Amino acid sequence: MELMDYADVVARFDPVLGLEVHVELSTNTKMFCGCPTAFGAEPNTQVCPTCLGLPGSLPALNGKAVEAAIRIGLALNCEIAEWCRFARKNYFYPDMPKNFQTSQYDEPIAFDGYLDVTLEDGEVVRVGIERAHMEEDTGKSLHVGGATGRIHGADYSLLDYNRAGVPLIEIVTKPITGTGERAPEVARAYVTALRDLLKALDVSDVRMDQGSLRCDANVSLMAKDATEFGTRTETKNVNSLRSVERAVRHEMTRQAAVLAAGGSILQETRHFDEATGHTSAGRRKETSEDYRYFPEPDLVPIAPSREWVDELRGTLPELPWERRRRIQAEWGLSDAELRDLVNVGAVDLIAATADAGAPAAEARSWWVSYLAQQANTRGVELAELPITPAQVAAVIALVADGTLTKALAREVVDGVLAGEGEPAEVVEKRGLKVVSDDSALYAAVDEALAAQPDVAAKIRDGKVAAAGAIVGAVMKATKGQADAKRVRELVLERCQ
Ligand SMILES: [Zn+2]
Repeated sequence: MELMDYADVVARFDPVLGLEVHVELSTNTKMFCGCPTAFGAEPNTQVCPTCLGLPGSLPALNGKAVEAAIRIGLALNCEIAEWCRFARKNYFYPDMPKNFQTSQYDEPIAFDGYLDVTLEDGEVVRVGIERAHMEEDTGKSLHVGGATGRIHGADYSLLDYNRAGVPLIEIVTKPITGTGERAPEVARAYVTALRDLLKALDVSDVRMDQGSLRCDANVSLMAKDATEFGTRTETKNVNSLRSVERAVRHEMTRQAAVLAAGGSILQETRHFDEATGHTSAGRRKETSEDYRYFPEPDLVPIAPSREWVDELRGTLPELPWERRRRIQAEWGLSDAELRDLVNVGAVDLIAATADAGAPAAEARSWWVSYLAQQANTRGVELAELPITPAQVAAVIALVADGTLTKALAREVVDGVLAGEGEPAEVVEKRGLKVVSDDSALYAAVDEALAAQPDVAAKIRDGKVAAAGAIVGAVMKATKGQADAKRVRELVLERCQ
């Protein structure tokens, strides 16, 4: 595959992005039936005639899903439709038993909004939102026997319809232009901001690794003097924030090489390969005519009253950017300090740790130093570490009440990260408590003094600095589980 050097790409072309994010709502039941939506159940145990598309079954709309769609629309500064309908999007695919997807077409529930996205250096890019519409998820195909998990070369395929009919909101941006060399970064920052927003709204668990937040990245290039957009490709289901950035960047370098060689870009879907960082051709992209959309005859139109919309506006929580401004003021952070915390994804974690009872400064220190190192070593985002803010707050409390020293606390955190349970359990299991029992400490001190009589003599002569050697010996004997300050006091007391 020919790729053009990135600096040449941005010197010769302007990228245009379009991002489509699908978010699975965390409603208890599916979009048009009462089946549960929990992730990870045995295949085909969460199904009924409606979500299996059996003849004669009829859909009934999930009101909670409509509510979530409106709240998402409001948070994205969208207009909320006074009247809109579902549409049938007709296509055959084995994971979609009805042979059509119930979606929205030219009448989305929310449209014409924007999201302000802050880049790492603090620059703000306003991304226009074309629409946010409701639809249902498809089932899942599992291709067995092929090398890549894709259908090509597979021996057979299995179908799981548990996901069929799970409520989805698809959020589509307007074309994002004028970002130049920062296009990949803008794409990542947009998905990050959207994820944080959806999380704050508590409408989805936004787990990219479990597919509850999925991004399709449309990318095209236009020559510097061109007046029309180029042909775009759509890279499907990019499943991490980092991959969004890599996929956009890769498509830019690939398309530029094709165009520079006199070729043309095919309008097609592409797959992103996490291992190579490359995209590969999928199917030729259908145009909307191919889907033969028509209004869904089995569902009545949705006409949210303005009173209801206003009421839902009142339920919007403090949104991430408002929260950041408040926290900046409360913690007395400079713009740069706040930005650093935001960039490592620590703000909400620190705030949640403080909410769980820890002093904000302590919480900040844990997340930006020891835990940031752990995340770095594992190559994951801070929020992906298997430790919760409440657990960090519990560790901080154990240090504050003298149960743990800082060094022991780090071992407890290691234990939590290793899946050994809650902090208190790790303390118990690993036997990490500070030895606070003075009689045990006296014994260890006496032993150390007896083992080093010359040092003991010096201390008795008033050479207090020599006490360090004894303290060190006691700490070693207690495997670091003694409070060094207390040990020192006891050594001096014994040598009076
Ligand atoms: Zn069902």
